Amino acid sequence: MEFQKNDIVTVEIEDIGNDGEGIGRIDGYALFVKDAVIGDIVEARITKVKKNYGYARLEKVITPSSFRVEPRCAFHRQCGGCQIQAMAYERQLEFKQDKIRNNLIRIGGFVPEHVDAVMEQIIGMENPWHYRNKAQFPVGYDKSNNLITGFYAGRTHDIIHNTDCALGAHENKQILETVLSYMRENSIPAYRETSGEGLVRHILIRTGFASGEIMVCLVINGKKLPAQEELVRKLTEISFSGSAMGIDFGERPTGIDSDGRRIVSISVNINTERNNVIMGKETRTLWGKDYIEDSIRILESVDSSTNVTGEVKFRISPLSFYQVNPGQTERLYSLALEYAGLTGNETVWDLYCGIGTISLFLAKSAKQVYGVEIVPQAIEDAKENARVNGITNAEFYVGKAEEVLPDKYKKEGLYADVIVVDPPRKGCDDKCLETILAMQPARIVYVSCDSATLARDLKVLADGGYEVKRVRGVDQFGGTVHVECVCQLVRKGIDSSIAGNAEKRRINYREEEIPDCGCIYG
Ligand code: SAH
Repeated sequence: MEFQKNDIVTVEIEDIGNDGEGIGRIDGYALFVKDAVIGDIVEARITKVKKNYGYARLEKVITPSSFRVEPRCAFHRQCGGCQIQAMAYERQLEFKQDKIRNNLIRIGGFVPEHVDAVMEQIIGMENPWHYRNKAQFPVGYDKSNNLITGFYAGRTHDIIHNTDCALGAHENKQILETVLSYMRENSIPAYRETSGEGLVRHILIRTGFASGEIMVCLVINGKKLPAQEELVRKLTEISFSGSAMGIDFGERPTGIDSDGRRIVSISVNINTERNNVIMGKETRTLWGKDYIEDSIRILESVDSSTNVTGEVKFRISPLSFYQVNPGQTERLYSLALEYAGLTGNETVWDLYCGIGTISLFLAKSAKQVYGVEIVPQAIEDAKENARVNGITNAEFYVGKAEEVLPDKYKKEGLYADVIVVDPPRKGCDDKCLETILAMQPARIVYVSCDSATLARDLKVLADGGYEVKRVRGVDQFGGTVHVECVCQLVRKGIDSSIAGNAEKRRINYREEEIPDCGCIYG
């Protein structure tokens, strides 16, 4: 059958694409229909025709899928944030479990039987709403030149006005409206991307869900914010009690019960570059602290949040990375700790350590931890976090993992029993993987926010002598197609149950040079 653009077709959705879109087939011709849910029968308008597949826009749901639910957000189709908000949460989890599995098979080259034997059940959230502790809202104008803030419409830089995102903290709405009213009253212009003029680019809000501390940071295209004392006055006068906001805080994510949230830090970040990067390098505090504090509990078992074995406190600066879903982060880190299998005698490296979150979790059960991170401010936070928690067996280095690790290994002969990596979406650099293989830790724990690059890197580690033993998804991002995943690899042919044996193995391996070329891969 030949299709043309703008044809209207009726199609049953049988599958889900990587970006959450529905996939249906007409006489074998695959159609990708954004916003259609697996099991729907829909009417769709064809928007793009390729040889073997095409794209279509959802026009009408004729027969809704049993997995279709009423979306909470009126903007979910326009906004780029929640691709699968109309899909029942249980089905979202199944989709994510399959996504990890398929990537391990297709990209990692692992056989399905192996993957099925090592994959554990994904850990979902009890309440997949209002879970995010951080958001960066672009500020701009609508078509009638009204000042607005909200989210970019999918794949564009058009702003949709929405101060009430269903994934963000409830308090964001009041903060955003207060900033907009301050801007209107003081004639402060929003930044215009097209001309590079105007001042306020983004509003960053970060909330410590356990501590209740909130940070507000305005990203500005200039050195100074006019009438800044007005902004401070307005923000510090906000009351966040549930009744003042007309909200029943029964909606807080499970395990997090902090009423009495309050703003403790107000700052500006200077970004005068004409690019897509949100934050500039320089931040100035206008009022309060330069950071917020928060804490994450250490769980005895990831399958129950009742047995808490400890807690780690964190200080978080505007530019530092911090996991966005604190309710699930305690499970993610507790799982990483379990996979690390520490007994107290181990030397552990935590690569891509951010503010030292995982490092400090590990330090409580290890002999020595070394963290490596590229953002200097994050390393400052990490050092301070170690001090605040009374942890003396963690050391931190600023730099690229792929440079610091080879350097420390080659020059100083540092070794590792366990290496933990938690890289950004692009995964680990080749040089970093090469060095890990040369160092021969007993175990590697790979924490990943992109199962495609995870699978690519696991293949390298598996070819280099490691066996993938355990894999488990942890859903940090309900409503979206993203999923976090933790993986345990064990070096083949050594008794990994012997703790602290790196020192012994080092005698055998420290003379070994790290190849500068890719010859470790053959
Ligand atoms: N483990 C931390 C941070 C994970 S996010 C946590 O859970 O909080 C990934 C981190 O890697 C970010 O802090 C980012 O700044 C850092 N990063 C990115 N590229 C890097 C590189 N090449 N070497 C070291 N760190 C890097």
